[in-house]
Amino acid sequence: MKNMCDLYQEQLALAIENTCFSAECKEEIVEILKQPKHEIIVNFPVKLSNGHLKVFKGYRIQHNNFCGPYKGGLRFHHNTHLDECKALAFWMTVKCALQELPFGGAKGGVKFDPREYSTDDLHKICKAFARAIYKYVGSERDIPAPDVGTNSKTMDWMTAETRRLNHDHDFGVYTGKSLIFGGSQGRTEATGRGLMHCVEKWAELTGAAHISATDLGENHQILKDRTFILQGFGNVGSFAAKLLTERLGMKCVGLGDHTGYWTNAEGFSIMELRNWVSETGCLSRGPGCAPEQAVDKLAFFSQACDLVIPAALELQIGEEEAHALQCSAVIEGANGPIDTDADRILTERGITVVPDVLANSGGVVVSYYEWLQNKRCEYWSLEKVRNDLEKRMDKAFNRVWSKAQELKTTMRIAAYVLAIERIQYAYDT
Ligand code: NAD
Repeated sequence: MKNMCDLYQEQLALAIENTCFSAECKEEIVEILKQPKHEIIVNFPVKLSNGHLKVFKGYRIQHNNFCGPYKGGLRFHHNTHLDECKALAFWMTVKCALQELPFGGAKGGVKFDPREYSTDDLHKICKAFARAIYKYVGSERDIPAPDVGTNSKTMDWMTAETRRLNHDHDFGVYTGKSLIFGGSQGRTEATGRGLMHCVEKWAELTGAAHISATDLGENHQILKDRTFILQGFGNVGSFAAKLLTERLGMKCVGLGDHTGYWTNAEGFSIMELRNWVSETGCLSRGPGCAPEQAVDKLAFFSQACDLVIPAALELQIGEEEAHALQCSAVIEGANGPIDTDADRILTERGITVVPDVLANSGGVVVSYYEWLQNKRCEYWSLEKVRNDLEKRMDKAFNRVWSKAQELKTTMRIAAYVLAIERIQYAYDT
């Protein structure tokens, strides 16, 4: 397996070769995008409720702002580290440019496991982290959002602390907030919903190749009883599973999270599992997920299905898993779940990969809508947010699909080429 910096730099090197820039321009853009503009590392103390003082390590990586203020999530995870944040920040630059948003890319996080802390302590940690980074963020400077281990409550606490320190009313400094605190309708479900639109577009555009003629018709009929396996049942995974099963009639035949992997040819009950996970925090011992029925990771990825959806962490599909997959397509809900060798193997095997920068971009699109609503002091209906998201996802998917056909390349490289052309224009103008 590669490390994450190798992964994004290799992807960048492959993509740049497919642009029509001069040799000199290619070299310059690679030099600029290879490293982030700012790497901010903070060590901040928190007096915990047990009376102990603990120093936490936090990161904010501001990768690029040619297209607008830095934008990207904050992750709370015990493995969060500098290289991870650098890679995730790079992908945000590409994602925002691909979606034609007025943002650059950033990412950050704190190295700790939020599951081990009480709500009181999480509150203190969030406020202390907000104090440590408040000088570097702002609605025109850098706008963080939720990611792994963080949620709307985290964003509310950090927004409140930043506003207090700045003596202002800037709600747009963080997105992914609660509705009652300047959040947008539809933000929580947005990444999963955007992923569902990608699945619909994939079905529509590859219908002839993958689906028998008798199935052709409305998308939900095309996909009815089609199967998927899903790694990760958090914000992205659980909403994607809900929408794919409820709206498109698909069947989830494999599930996994940090507590294990399970398969079920009859299909899991997603609604019951969503209730279970919201109470217990994990899939283990939920309906259909008894520990004694668990399978190993490779057996999970070897399960025959139409779609594989990694929606947990990066670097989950390496060479071994890439050879084992038995599906038509991989839809990347997580950022960077496939390493470059595995990506090459999937291409050779004719398995389509809908890349992360497209498939999980619904979250940042609705974060953009939230930022706009905060700026204008107006609030949109859920219907408007969903309609606008669908149009934007469809447009981005069509552009990537056409570019891939034109260049005779993968959707990942096509997405990068479109994004890099936009960034290069902003740089050179
Ligand atoms: P989350 O914290 O809500 O859920 C993470 C899920 O991954 C959980 O089910 C957890 O059990 C599982 N997981 C963690 N470690 C695992 C392991 N070692 N093996 C298997 N499963 C494991 O996070 P999320 O917000 O759903 O984010 C998931 C992915 O999607 C990340 O790559 C994130 O960067 C990306 N993403 C999130 C958003 C968003 O809006 N939240 C937007 C774009 C991309």
